[in-house]
Amino acid sequence: MPKVVSRSAVSSSTDAKPTASAAAALRVYYCICGEFILVIEKSLAALPRRRTDGAYIIRCRENETGKAVIFKLNASTSVAPVLVERSGAYERQYGFSCPRCNLLVGYQYTPLPVKSGPYLYILKGALTHAQGQVPKDAFEGLEESNDTA
Ligand SMILES: [Zn+2]
Repeated sequence: MPKVVSRSAVSSSTDAKPTASAAAALRVYYCICGEFILVIEKSLAALPRRRTDGAYIIRCRENETGKAVIFKLNASTSVAPVLVERSGAYERQYGFSCPRCNLLVGYQYTPLPVKSGPYLYILKGALTHAQGQVPKDAFEGLEESNDTA
């Protein structure tokens, strides 16, 4: 996995030659404010989604459903969890937020560090593939859609 050199810029290193497949697959996502948040080996659109809130599910470790997804998250973390009610039960969410504008971008169920649990969730509409653009899924659900997911 290539090194992320600074928080605001991801440089494609010229000294080390990454394997063609790894370089081609890496995707970078930004907060709406323009801050770099996530570099990941596959597109968010290719990830499974939660039924409850539409969040993207990133598998942090290998399990019976498949291999771990390689990614790096640049986010501020909250030590105290937020309790969210899900169909009568309470879910504990440790939030990740943008280090610049503090917008919540994702969460996990387990306390820090990042990736301590089996899955990490990225909120739909929180991140954009193109810096400075509104995420495509920001208005998702406001109109009739025929999602295949
Ligand atoms: Zn931000």
